Amino acid sequence: MKATHYLHGTRVEAGSRSLNPLTSPVDGAPLGSVAVADATVVDQAVQSAQKAFQSWSLVPVKDRVQVLYKFKALVEQNIGDLAKQVTAENGKTTAESAAGIARGIEIVEYAASLPQLFAGEILEVSTGVDCYTRRFPIGVVAGITPFNFPAMVPMWMFPMAIACGNSFILKPSEQVPFTPLLLADLLKESGLPDGVFNVVQGDRETVEAVLDHPGIAAAAFVGSTAVAKAVYDRGIASNKRMLTLGGAKNHLIVVPDADPLITAKNVVSSAVGCAGQRCMAASVLIAVGDCDAIIDAIEHEMRNLTCGAEIGAIISVKAKERIEGYIARAAARGAKIRLDGRGQSMAGNYVGTTLIDGITTEDECANDEIFGPVLSILRVKTLDEALAIENANPYGNAACIYTSSGATARYFEMKAEAGMIGVNIGVPVPRDPFGFGGWNASKFGAGDITGRDAISFWTKTKKVTAKWTSKSTNWMS
Ligand code: NAD
Repeated sequence: MKATHYLHGTRVEAGSRSLNPLTSPVDGAPLGSVAVADATVVDQAVQSAQKAFQSWSLVPVKDRVQVLYKFKALVEQNIGDLAKQVTAENGKTTAESAAGIARGIEIVEYAASLPQLFAGEILEVSTGVDCYTRRFPIGVVAGITPFNFPAMVPMWMFPMAIACGNSFILKPSEQVPFTPLLLADLLKESGLPDGVFNVVQGDRETVEAVLDHPGIAAAAFVGSTAVAKAVYDRGIASNKRMLTLGGAKNHLIVVPDADPLITAKNVVSSAVGCAGQRCMAASVLIAVGDCDAIIDAIEHEMRNLTCGAEIGAIISVKAKERIEGYIARAAARGAKIRLDGRGQSMAGNYVGTTLIDGITTEDECANDEIFGPVLSILRVKTLDEALAIENANPYGNAACIYTSSGATARYFEMKAEAGMIGVNIGVPVPRDPFGFGGWNASKFGAGDITGRDAISFWTKTKKVTAKWTSKSTNWMS
């Protein structure tokens, strides 16, 4: 099978080249190859989107969101097939794939409520003079997405972008190119006019063609930090509105008064859920004082999880080897490997749950985004020491605390340098209307990618000052 582009409601195979055949992370089965959209194909997508924009942008928002109601129902009906596809190309367990899609559905619901959110403001600013705002779509917009959530991350972007009246071009990760085509089919079945949603497949060449195209007004990106920064700079240089989300290194701080069982279960699900391949995954646990009972409970929980059942596959052989390299080097440096996930014998790219104790703040495990089911433990004496470590890391996606003290939690919440804070929750994903987005090297650009900020990102406002009276009391009126 070939992962084609999707232009003006049709699957199209075109472009400069194809990428190497893909294999499933789950069992190595061949999945097919991926077409690469060059600048010509990207231009075709832009032309299709521009044509569609002329009428779609004029459809009243109440009518536009009717498509999203139908789309939500179709995604719900087809969630089994969609989850199967996500699992085949990404390697997540089927339950994790379905959970990601369910989160995508929540965003569709929020976007479908746009008529309730879209109303502008009005104020009489002087006698007989009103100021008010109107929101407008910005035109043809784009989304560039990573491998780790093949359905959900695109769904962070396109439902709100198209509800706002834009036409959308998606450039999915070349490692998971098939799921977006299923979403495209469901959008068409929902009645979305051709050209409002397009897919261009490819790699860096395609991304650069999207960023350089003068017909694209804005782009959102989700991926690793180095690419997020380069994409941000290149898009800004061609006058696009840009928001790019990058990588993460999330710290969970545990204090001795935390509930051992709840903490252990929650920390483990954050660290090894989706095989640790998510930007909200716990990567470093900082134990403040004596938390040994909690750490023992964490080890016990992790030991009971098996690859292929609760632990999904790693996206590629290269990524698997990279993760195993971190474990090997930590062992060589003398860290205590309490659980070692290397050397899984089953077919597929699996790394088992790994718990590394006795690392220092200089250790690469304490600093790099490992993106695997690996939790490293740092030990400190005070909460302020823990905060200093968390705040010194260049990222700022999530930071979490486990405690039974409201005062401790609040102190942490106020001091931690991260955009998303968890209190007794290890994956603190804000739900709409709250927005998803980190700080520091985890995000470039203003605002968040979901929630209320998404409406601002995908629209522009007109501010009208109008006088409909003949009375004159000052220079303005
Ligand atoms: P990636 O940066 O390798 O790829 C992301 C996208 O950028 C893909 O579509 C890819 O084709 C494209 N790309 C890759 N290299 C490029 C280059 N040099 N120039 C232009 N485009 C390029 O990321 P990934 O490996 O697919 O995803 C994992 C990363 O994404 C992790 O770092 C993870 O933390 C991050 N992530 C962040 C969030 C968040 O919300 N902050 C969410 C999910 C994933």
